[in-house]
Amino acid sequence: MVATGSHGSSTKFGPFPNMVYGYELVDGNGNVRKFNESDDKEIIDACRVHLGLCGIIYKTILKVTPDVKQKYTHATNIPVQKLLDDNNRRVLVMDNWAVYIVFMIDFKSATEEEMEQMLGDPLRRIPESYDIFKAEMEIWIWSEVDQNTPLSEEYNDTLTLADGSTYGAVSAIKPYSETRNGESIWSRDQCIQMRTAVSFAAPESDDFIESGKTLREHLTILEGIFKNIGFYPKLNASSALRWMKHFDDCLLCPSTVADDSSMNKLVTYSEMVTLYDKCEEPIISEVNSMKQRLLETQFGVDVMKNNPRVLPHWGKYFEHIPGMSDQIRRQFGDDLLTFINMRNKYKLDNKNLFVNTHLKDIFRDALSETCPGYNRFTINI
Ligand SMILES: Cc1cc2nc3c(=O)[nH]c(=O)nc-3n(C[C@H](O)[C@H](O)[C@H](O)COP(=O)(O)OP(=O)(O)OC[C@H]3O[C@@H](n4cnc5c(N)ncnc54)[C@H](O)[C@@H]3O)c2cc1C
Repeated sequence: MVATGSHGSSTKFGPFPNMVYGYELVDGNGNVRKFNESDDKEIIDACRVHLGLCGIIYKTILKVTPDVKQKYTHATNIPVQKLLDDNNRRVLVMDNWAVYIVFMIDFKSATEEEMEQMLGDPLRRIPESYDIFKAEMEIWIWSEVDQNTPLSEEYNDTLTLADGSTYGAVSAIKPYSETRNGESIWSRDQCIQMRTAVSFAAPESDDFIESGKTLREHLTILEGIFKNIGFYPKLNASSALRWMKHFDDCLLCPSTVADDSSMNKLVTYSEMVTLYDKCEEPIISEVNSMKQRLLETQFGVDVMKNNPRVLPHWGKYFEHIPGMSDQIRRQFGDDLLTFINMRNKYKLDNKNLFVNTHLKDIFRDALSETCPGYNRFTINI
């Protein structure tokens, strides 16, 4: 989880690697090494997100804080148009600890005719008349409550947006941690399992205009996928936007694309998740597997084409999506070199034992520049 810069969704706290205090590891020479934030901040900051390149980590020491009671609210049926309103979205995100807006790919807003045409098409494409901007989204919210509030199971509640519109919701008061405040929508059904996710961080602006563009583009991309590639209804999927605060002491956190000139230093993660029904199809069929790859590829390529400032999430991208590695190299820029230099300075892996073929490609310029005799065409030197 720390290796890839995993995160929950929070405007107040950073991604999971920010909670690392220390690492104990075996380096590339077989030596046991121990580092902590108080004594060796530069190497901890460089290796918070380590991708497996800082050694074989056998102990991760985390800063822990007590769980706090939070109010968790879940509302469905929020019209997309309401969430495209920058002020509605800004107030929703800034007034709460964490917000997740979810688009379930269930075609509920399609007309009967559109569904009939889709199901009759061998590629399962939805007709041109389908308008994703008439669809509805779900919202999950975690917010601060007075710690004396009694714990409570789900109760009926109301969600009010900044424009005064109200929606039926369900809330619960439960203890959650700073970094984990989730109750996965995908675990509601015992049969549905998450299969893959493609996710990008994009800089958010203080006026939330940026995430308005991100959401609009996100939905337009999905609509294009449904119309041109098609979608097997059995291949469940959802997509989501969530917000995360960036802290500068995490060199390779994908949240690093946060705009330095913004006050809030937020990024919006937009992602497409594919799920499958493990009861019906314990091993995914070749057809569904290919379709899923096509969906991921189209989503990834279109997101990068629309917004050159996005950065793929280390734990949620695939090499089969063209341009991913280039995007990572471009967006991290000199930080990749800083990371390799730090690794060299602390002699964590001077034989490049831990560099796999893929990471060799990502770090190719930094490795060639800093490791004498490095050959990018062999696995190890
Ligand atoms: C159901 C599901 C939900 C998810 N939800 C989220 C989410 O909400 N937010 C989010 O940010 N991400 C999410 N992810 C993606 C998640 O961030 C990555 O899958 C994450 O990297 C998983 O960590 P892991 O330890 O299981 O992975 P692994 O594959 O074990 O490891 C990831 C990396 O760490 C390295 N590594 C592992 N162990 C060691 C070790 N001992 N020493 C050195 N290097 C090591 C590996 O080389 C690899 O590069 C989700 C994934 C799934 C499957």
